[in-house]
Amino acid sequence: MKSYDVAVIGGGQLARMLHEAASALDIHLRALVASEGDPVAQVMTDCGVGSPDSAEAVAALVQGMDVLTFEHEHQDLALLTQLVEDGYNVHPTPQALQCAKDKHIMREMLAELDVPMPDWRSIRRESDLDIFLSEHRGECIVKTARGGYDGKGVREVNHLDDVRDWLEAMEAGEVELIAEELVPYAYEVAALCARRPSGEIRHWPLAETVQDGGVCAKVITPVPGADPSLGAQAERIAETIAEGLGVTGVLAVEMFVLPGKDGPSLLVNELAMRPHNSGHWTIEGSVTSQFEQHLRAVLNLPLGDTTARAPHAVMVNVLGTELNDPSQGYAHLMQEYPDAKVHLYGKKVRPRRKLGHVTVLGEDLEEVTATAEAAAAILRGDQPDWTEN
Ligand code: ADP
Repeated sequence: MKSYDVAVIGGGQLARMLHEAASALDIHLRALVASEGDPVAQVMTDCGVGSPDSAEAVAALVQGMDVLTFEHEHQDLALLTQLVEDGYNVHPTPQALQCAKDKHIMREMLAELDVPMPDWRSIRRESDLDIFLSEHRGECIVKTARGGYDGKGVREVNHLDDVRDWLEAMEAGEVELIAEELVPYAYEVAALCARRPSGEIRHWPLAETVQDGGVCAKVITPVPGADPSLGAQAERIAETIAEGLGVTGVLAVEMFVLPGKDGPSLLVNELAMRPHNSGHWTIEGSVTSQFEQHLRAVLNLPLGDTTARAPHAVMVNVLGTELNDPSQGYAHLMQEYPDAKVHLYGKKVRPRRKLGHVTVLGEDLEEVTATAEAAAAILRGDQPDWTEN
């Protein structure tokens, strides 16, 4: 065993980038992965295959380790609570984690903390949604409380028939639903911070997140042209949540920005308690990356400096590719854009799948954005004219 041993549940790209940070610090990382081909299992030897719901698999994972953490929210909270009762360090704690796992619980907890949110209602029967729709000009958003990601558990609703299948599943006790007002936001942002058990908190600069079909496509930091009050407002909200829920590790707070006469205001959409897509830019763009910070935070080590290394950072996700593998674009990309930093996750190509990302830093936002987008386009195989050469 090393001086620091961290167990992580999940084997995707977040665990893989956590491994890069752990490797630099010579922190021993062990992962519980869904299959041997998972992104982290391709680069790390200490991986066990199993389900996060399996008490046996999780017991083997935490054996001899200092702390257990996560790269996704799909955990068995009862199992984690038992681990805490047995004396294991689990960060974030199951109590905090339930707010990232369940949107209904999150809304209830954030209401207690008096955090600004869209108007919302828990939907227990069809008539609840009917009433909510009539109170909100016949339009709203309906979400499944658990299991949604990348927009999969989110629907815009103008009529009960738009969610007939979900209402039936709800009646059968298979899903829980909440309704939210349809927020006429100007754009979306993510406030990223980390908190450690001692209470120390560090924030990164606020980022704008651009979605494409419910999936994060691009992240720009700092937020272009933002009112100077916006960053401070977002930090206050993130801090209220991090402290109020006792979050440990990285916390991402996704928010809607509403323009207003007296300046913009923010409404909290959702939370993630782990490194987040909105923070991938920190690998090159911040003195301390979100992955290193997450390790420091869950180990209760002093947190690193979060100052940005350049005036602008833009991250573009590689969502699917026409190539057999996005790395086929390397020679062209590296020739054209030597300043683009590429991360590929080792995933099999599937339509619209998050296969990697590109980050570019610089002085000129337009140039930085154009470079990041063009580099990602090459990895997506969007330019057939060069693939023939
Ligand atoms: P997921 O957990 O699948 O990422 P989110 O709750 O983040 O789902 O919602 C996905 C996207 O749906 C958001 O990024 C936003 O564009 C849109 N959305 C979610 N809630 C609302 C809302 N109340 N009003 C307007 N748009 C919303």
